[in-house]
Amino acid sequence: MESDKRARVEAWLRYGADLELGPYYRDRVSSNVVVETNQAAVARSTAPRQSPIAAAARAASSSSSFGLAPSTSGAPSPARSSASTPFAQAPSLFETSDRITGDTFQLIRETIGDCTRCKLHKARTHIVFGVGSMKAELVFVGEGPGHDEDIKGEPFVGRAGKLLTQMIEAMGLRREDVYICNVVKCRPPENRLPEKDEISTCSPFLFRQIDVIRPKVICCLGSCASQTLLQTTQGISRFRGEWFDFRGSKLIATYHPAYLLRNPNAKGEVWKDLQKVMTVLGLQPKRK
Ligand code: URA
Repeated sequence: MESDKRARVEAWLRYGADLELGPYYRDRVSSNVVVETNQAAVARSTAPRQSPIAAAARAASSSSSFGLAPSTSGAPSPARSSASTPFAQAPSLFETSDRITGDTFQLIRETIGDCTRCKLHKARTHIVFGVGSMKAELVFVGEGPGHDEDIKGEPFVGRAGKLLTQMIEAMGLRREDVYICNVVKCRPPENRLPEKDEISTCSPFLFRQIDVIRPKVICCLGSCASQTLLQTTQGISRFRGEWFDFRGSKLIATYHPAYLLRNPNAKGEVWKDLQKVMTVLGLQPKRK
């Protein structure tokens, strides 16, 4: 190759490496997968991400239906101004990238294989892919498997999972009506937070799962999921309960059920967020 061409290619590869694109492109390669330009995805990617969708919040009952009564003593309401929230100004790499035509859970699972792409593989028992309906209108995204999930190979089956199931049922749904998954598919040791490299290696598979499902609503549980999908380092209390766009789905962030186990007073706030989701999905709360 001529030297100026070589220099240009090398500069381009360095740029890709700086953006940590290596694993993404490596894992996208599949002989029977066609990548096509998706005009809708491109149109979405050029839409401003900062402005929250006006939440058609219906003033339904404010009482939490999944356990303790909501806090009335009142933790202060978090700031709601997304104008001051430093979310990514540009569309994410994954939004500008094309969807994979004909992608399926089976293909995604096959691509993941017996994954050793990041260090989380060393201590895991099972890869926790996700559970629920591929046709779900609602997807819950958590952080990563804990001990019980690692053993069982299913997300949200421990104490936090039982609370999530109660939350889902309070919304008038069953666990099998929604889809439940995590940012990373292997358990971080000692239940630590997933690290940046682990998230950037694993999250493209989550994005493919979301692209296959195309849910109406994505509900991010906790900081890790919200910050990963919204590409922000802002604390969740600054933007939970607000609506965002994510690859054509409406996205809302709320507190993680594990946080609720430690802070039951926050259940009222979460119930308000879930009621917003119910409004968008046209759901009635479960009758007690
Ligand atoms: N916490 C999570 O974030 N995900 C799980 O699957 C279980 C607990």
